[in-house]
Amino acid sequence: MPGTVVVRNGKIAEARAGRSRVDGVRNIDVGKLVVMPGVVDVHVHVNEPGRTEWEGFATAGRAAVAGGVTTTVVMPLNCSPVATSVEALNGEVRAAEGVCACDFGFWGGVVPGNVGELKKLWDAGVLGFKCFTVHSGIDEFPNVTRSDLEEAMPMIASLRGGRAVLLAHAEDPGAIEAARGRSGLDGEPRDYRKYLASRPPESELRAIQMMVEMCRATGCRTHIVHVSSGDSLPVIAKAKQALTGFSAETCPHYLAFAAEEIKDGATEFKCAPPIREMWHREALWRGLKDGVLDLVASDHSPAPAELKSLKEGNLAKAWGGIAGLQVQLPAVWSGAHARGCSLADIARWMCEAPAKLAGIEDQKGKIAPGMDADLLVLDPDAEWTVRGGELEHRHKATPYDGRSVRGVVHATFVRGKQVFSSGKVAFGAGLDGERAFAKEASGRWVKRSRA
Ligand SMILES: [Zn+2]
Repeated sequence: MPGTVVVRNGKIAEARAGRSRVDGVRNIDVGKLVVMPGVVDVHVHVNEPGRTEWEGFATAGRAAVAGGVTTTVVMPLNCSPVATSVEALNGEVRAAEGVCACDFGFWGGVVPGNVGELKKLWDAGVLGFKCFTVHSGIDEFPNVTRSDLEEAMPMIASLRGGRAVLLAHAEDPGAIEAARGRSGLDGEPRDYRKYLASRPPESELRAIQMMVEMCRATGCRTHIVHVSSGDSLPVIAKAKQALTGFSAETCPHYLAFAAEEIKDGATEFKCAPPIREMWHREALWRGLKDGVLDLVASDHSPAPAELKSLKEGNLAKAWGGIAGLQVQLPAVWSGAHARGCSLADIARWMCEAPAKLAGIEDQKGKIAPGMDADLLVLDPDAEWTVRGGELEHRHKATPYDGRSVRGVVHATFVRGKQVFSSGKVAFGAGLDGERAFAKEASGRWVKRSRA
């Protein structure tokens, strides 16, 4: 549909149907390309300060804008110290300011014993909270138990009339411990089938059931991150019918890959919960289409080659995390297009719904008057092959390497300013001519507006 977006002072002033010239501003004609709201990625691990050798705001910010992501909301556990206090949050903000090319917000951490910090974190500007029901992989960020949640969730529910949300990594530690013994993974740590057996669907299901019960009991808004299993969907669907404050996401890698295609020792595919068999993938697509799953977020979490055990291919030891920040839009769009979904669906799952989860839907995630002019220019039909070595994030190992995808991001704008150009099309926007990033990293800290 031809349209015109008018941008003034970094905000969308007007969005109208039809191609028209506007006086008093620079006119950019993108021809047949698509203008979309910038992607809002609510699940990103940046690791800075403290673990910058894994990933940092400079590299993650460039990867984001090169992939059409204009806002990232950063997880609290990979920076050091972990973001379970205002002091640590401030450290993250200092690390990002002047360094990150896209806008950034933060989730605060919920760990045993920090309930006294939650209101302070909220007042300091976190967009909500994150907890793990199973070991997080980071010893300083221990998981919560039901009794910890009984303390934390009523506190979160009391913040700003119940609008604060708790995100949960839902896997059950007891189920995982039992499965790990049975799986045989420790004897054959390169065997992907054994890794899969060590984190079974029941474990996710059991933890989600606990979160549903806790949501009902406390009235705390609850969001399940990275749903990987088709078995979890009926429980989520039922919870969403009964409870207003319940939502769930899945990730590009669960939608793009299937266990049947993963070779033994391929630790670049390791994440937790794991990428499961094909039928789970198709169930997750149906979940998105039916609205059982609200949104897609990258769970971008790269690590250095040794920690990823790239040489040995040890799936028991390797860090669980997938580098997908830059390729998530084409990865999801490829699968969506093949299943008869539209770019409007993509905008709902990757822009509008994530902004709503983070409570920033009055600023981000939509092309509408008054919103930040966070925009991307996409060629939705162009196909290309991902080369891990050409991606912007710090460590290049990614399961997307060698994969053909659909959709090329040609330009990205954050609050009206062009921050990325593919160099492949010239439409007189400012960074044309070669592949380029804006010289200054002008990403800003995104907080809830006071209204
Ligand atoms: Zn994560």
